[in-house]
Amino acid sequence: MSRDLNFPVWPQYDETEREGLIRALEQGQWWRIGGSEVDRFEEEFGAYHGAPHALAVTNGTHALELALEVVGVGPGDEVIVPAFTFISSSQAAQRLGATAVPVDVDPYTYNISVEAAEKAVTDRTRAIMPVHLAGLFADMDALAKLSADAGVPLVQDAAHAHGARWQGKRVGELGSVAALSFQNGKLMTAGEGGAVLFPDAELAELGFLKHSCGRPPTDTQYKHKTSGSNFRLNEFSASVLRAQLARLDGQIDVREQRWPLLRDLLAAIPGVVPQAGDDRADRNPHYMAMFRVPGISEERRNQLVDELKAAGLPAFIAFRAIYRTDGFWEYNAPDTTVEALAKACPATEEVYRDAIWLHHRTLLGTEAQMHAIAEVVAETLGE
Ligand SMILES: *Cc1c(COP(=O)(O)O)cnc(C)c1O
Repeated sequence: MSRDLNFPVWPQYDETEREGLIRALEQGQWWRIGGSEVDRFEEEFGAYHGAPHALAVTNGTHALELALEVVGVGPGDEVIVPAFTFISSSQAAQRLGATAVPVDVDPYTYNISVEAAEKAVTDRTRAIMPVHLAGLFADMDALAKLSADAGVPLVQDAAHAHGARWQGKRVGELGSVAALSFQNGKLMTAGEGGAVLFPDAELAELGFLKHSCGRPPTDTQYKHKTSGSNFRLNEFSASVLRAQLARLDGQIDVREQRWPLLRDLLAAIPGVVPQAGDDRADRNPHYMAMFRVPGISEERRNQLVDELKAAGLPAFIAFRAIYRTDGFWEYNAPDTTVEALAKACPATEEVYRDAIWLHHRTLLGTEAQMHAIAEVVAETLGE
């Protein structure tokens, strides 16, 4: 039987991106100081996420670094991160001289285990970083409580969570600093780019200074008020992101319709367990369509992904446990071993070996294509 596996392409663009790029080109200023695209984008992006202040930056990794820095993370501090995430979560902390402390995740949602995070808090802990994996929220109620009890700020790695909502609250309304990414695969993109959402003006002002070599927006006298670096976004990227933002909500609507269907079809396949969400999250942007095949070996999982690809699905293997990469141990790693962390993170040990994800462009496809995906997965697993 011939199946239609021609999913929508990613990234998407139309005349709005084209017009934006020309607008930026002809504006005569191609950096944010003196231009208007980055300023407008920050207003629009902040408002969309319910954040009082937004700052556009060069990429999501820099956004995390800046977010950690403004809440006071520095040398000698500890930052608690989930062990199952993209490596930027820990690298951002390590670049600031802080120790990244990985903790286990939930085996169904793949999000940070709040109990594990609580146990990892010490008097050196300066931030806890939940990652809303694949756009499904970590338990923000329990984390808010832990944050308050421990007196440690939350820094949300929201690189997968553009437009997400937790009990009616958007990412920027949850009272913590949040970092987002606009890398090519993310839910809105300019190829590269990032943003930080701030809960108050003070942190936002510090963020601006830090992202622009310590200079206030109007400085002409090289009076660098703080230390910093250059994480400024350019006008071209911001013009593209304004167009991408305008398209995001409609795309989330489609993915929100498709995922429950695909999830149920996948769940009906023997051996397949799709990622679980939390009912308190009332809008899920769905950055990845993820599922586990519990009990299979890492080798078999990798082979399965190759087979799914050969059958026409944009399939990928899951992130590796961060403590199982060489990069994690190069500097500012905790004083422990891979073996000890593996023992402390049993769910991570399983998920990183047996999880598979499909690109979110699949969820922009038709209902018939959700059935086609499930059929391909069932056939591939059955072989
Ligand atoms: C993509 C990603 C980042 C980093 O974003 P870049 O823009 O690629 O630097 C950080 N955290 C997570 C979870 C990501 O997936």
